[in-house]
Amino acid sequence: MAKPFASSADLGEKTRTLEVLADGVYALTAEGDPNIGAIEGEDFLVCFEALATPAAAKGWLDELRTHTAKPVKYLVLSHYHAVRVLGAAAYDAEIIVAHENTKRLIDERGQEDWDSEYGRMPRLFAHPETIPGLTHPTETFSDTYRIALGGDRGDLVLAYCGRGHTAGDIVAWVEKPRILFAGDLVEAEAALYTGDAFHHDWSGATLDAVKAFEAEALIGGRGGVTHGREQVDAAIEQTRDFIAIMLREVGAVHERGGTLKEAFEATHAALAPTYGHWPIFEHCLPFDVQRVWDEYEGIDWPRIWTAERDREVWDQLQD
Ligand SMILES: [Zn+2]
Repeated sequence: MAKPFASSADLGEKTRTLEVLADGVYALTAEGDPNIGAIEGEDFLVCFEALATPAAAKGWLDELRTHTAKPVKYLVLSHYHAVRVLGAAAYDAEIIVAHENTKRLIDERGQEDWDSEYGRMPRLFAHPETIPGLTHPTETFSDTYRIALGGDRGDLVLAYCGRGHTAGDIVAWVEKPRILFAGDLVEAEAALYTGDAFHHDWSGATLDAVKAFEAEALIGGRGGVTHGREQVDAAIEQTRDFIAIMLREVGAVHERGGTLKEAFEATHAALAPTYGHWPIFEHCLPFDVQRVWDEYEGIDWPRIWTAERDREVWDQLQD
């Protein structure tokens, strides 16, 4: 029997956990659903990610409001994916900041990505009618963007570490408590979605740059918060290992002139013993393998996923 498309049959609600990681640093995790966070300045808030709809983001904001009533001055978008940006309206943020490549990707494929992700993960789109339209950053940067938090809180540094999960991922570094919001560049015991990724860059210099922060706590895109240097490095290295296995398996099949389907099966067999039980593993893998394959074909800029192309690749690989 064919597997249900992507996460379309995943309808069970997840338990959400709000953790206060340091004075004024909040992370909300949800058993493998997208994570989000917030950082307090003296008289304002910086929110990191926005979930898929304003209704979904409002639920998180209500929880955050039991800790602080400060207004949201900044909304940081770690990258362009719909399930992390389309809830932005709930925050009423003064400034929406993202990497310049994220702006380019939203302009180029934001609508297609919205349609694609809605089809893949309908459960995340609570009350989709509350989405007013695409989310566009109001400020962009190329290398770093510094926000002074005020008082003795130090700075929040947004940094580009190189191409990775997308062309425009950024991390948010809370300097004083040494806490890193890594977005989808790192996943803690959740499968990687790499359908728009640059696997060689990501598994090399980009993850090296993420590791170089030497964070004491790390919040990845999905999965629990990792605490302590050892666990943080372990999460980074698991992410690197997942990518390295895909590169190795797909590369070998491509090299010998095999098919995409063979590459998928080899990659699935190699990853499943260690990573097969992680959230969204079966969902992600066809799209991941297709993108690794495209990179070996010399396609540098990722092809746009449409709802139709999603189904084609799924039907070809996950039958
Ligand atoms: Zn993503």
